[in-house]
Amino acid sequence: MTACEKLANAMFPDVTLTPEDLENTYPPRQLKEGARVTRIPPSPTGYLHLGVLYSAMVNKLTADASGGLFYFRLEDTDSKREVQGGAEDILRGLNAYGITPQEGFVAPGVVQGDYGPYRQSERAGIYHVYAKSLVAQGLAYPCFCSEEERQAARQRQEAAKVRTGYYGEYALCRRLTTEEALSRVQAGESYVVRLRSPGSEERRIQFDDLIKGKIEMPENDEDIVLLKSDGIPTYHFAHAVDDHLMRTTHVLRGDEWISSVPKHLQLFRVLGFKPPKYGHISPIMKLENGGKRKLSKRKDPEAAVHYFVQQGYPAGSVIEYLMTIAASDFEDWRRRNPDASRAAFPFTLKKMSPSGALFDPDKLNDVSKAVISRMDADEVAQAVTAWAAEYAPDFHALLARDPAFTRGIFAIDRGGSKPRKDLAKWADAPDFAAYFFDETFDGAFALPEHIAPADATAVLAAYKGVYDPAQDKQAWFQAIKDLAPSLGFCPEVKEYKKNPDGYKGHAGDMSTILRLAVTGRANTPDLCSIMQLLGRERVLSRIDRAIQRIDRAGCAE
Ligand code: GLU
Repeated sequence: MTACEKLANAMFPDVTLTPEDLENTYPPRQLKEGARVTRIPPSPTGYLHLGVLYSAMVNKLTADASGGLFYFRLEDTDSKREVQGGAEDILRGLNAYGITPQEGFVAPGVVQGDYGPYRQSERAGIYHVYAKSLVAQGLAYPCFCSEEERQAARQRQEAAKVRTGYYGEYALCRRLTTEEALSRVQAGESYVVRLRSPGSEERRIQFDDLIKGKIEMPENDEDIVLLKSDGIPTYHFAHAVDDHLMRTTHVLRGDEWISSVPKHLQLFRVLGFKPPKYGHISPIMKLENGGKRKLSKRKDPEAAVHYFVQQGYPAGSVIEYLMTIAASDFEDWRRRNPDASRAAFPFTLKKMSPSGALFDPDKLNDVSKAVISRMDADEVAQAVTAWAAEYAPDFHALLARDPAFTRGIFAIDRGGSKPRKDLAKWADAPDFAAYFFDETFDGAFALPEHIAPADATAVLAAYKGVYDPAQDKQAWFQAIKDLAPSLGFCPEVKEYKKNPDGYKGHAGDMSTILRLAVTGRANTPDLCSIMQLLGRERVLSRIDRAIQRIDRAGCAE
């Protein structure tokens, strides 16, 4: 037995498995040629960051586009960041956005797949097998440096104006003989396990990032920590071991990791693993004081996906918006295929922007309006009601009173080639639907300046005489036109425009007066349908009330 093997045995007395055993337990996946295996490995912080949802979406799209596999691994090695039930919250969030992993943690409380455990805290034994093997080969070593010693080394580096870090002559424990290291381990001293980096700062490495393109960086020469003193792996080590054993082919992650790629490529090489392909995703940014910055969990409510749930953005709207950020060709595709399922979009990483996209709330609203305009009335009514149950109880009470009436509100002007785009999110619904309910219809309105109060009351009074709730849209407007001449209005807007002087207004102005009286708004979906839904009694009483108000005040406010 070599000295290094003796040292490895002393450091890992309980490890009996070998890397070969693990290779056999986790064999290469039997997937079709070209199938990509991707993953989302969040920490269980209980907080679904928009960036994590975005990254999960990109990973899933990449796997799906190749007939591959997308899995979820829990990176819970940092107990300081962990919150109770944090993993479940993240999964629930992802699932709600239609991002359901095929393996690992697939839903709250549901773990499946043959490449687990998928929780890093249950994988200590696996990391130790590789750490032991590296020590036995002299490729890793125990480091006993105290915080004070490392601090002192850092000060020397700063004084010498050289790079800080544990490398070269500053890597004190690298120079211990194996025998010295062994006796200190046997004496029970505390240590971390470090890689004996074979790299040199002088040499450069090149790699092709799938999103950022060709990148060149100096090789890693730091003896990075693989296992902390409690035996828990660092991100770097766990990434190499897990992504190898879980047979990840494509690591698509936040670009804060890009500077770590030299460390990771070196680790894969030292461990004898084939490295995955890397793609580094630019963060979603926010404009502030003319500058761009990353969306911040602390400062920006929209950094948390929960914000969009509270606001009542349909999950499909948020994903559709994220698609416009992820793929520069998505909007064109959507214009050409307004009704196609998103799954039909041919996603490719080549169309991802190498720089950070701005979070644009106006764009999100536009995208969401289009998404909602394509939903059917039942879907909208159900979603608004469910949202209101949680976030707008008074409004919910109104909606729940008569579900058929509620459905009717959201059925108006739906369908057809140019559906209206009134709602960007369910939180817009209480205001949008306010005039449908007597409790929230206040009857106040201002007449347009060119309409005299006396003419308005005359129109309303005369309209009562011809009002027939059974009329369809055409008959409804015809009745208004027929009434026009007797009230001094012009039936046709075209005619009116040629010679406005002899008239008080046109039939469109008459329907505006009626619209204001019945809804209090100048702009609404189809008024005939609104009046049908409100019913004869309500319409007549609103017209009477409007006449009284105008008579009283000369206007209706
Ligand atoms: N747990 C890491 C993070 O949340 C995962 C990064 C990766 O995708 O490898 O940043």
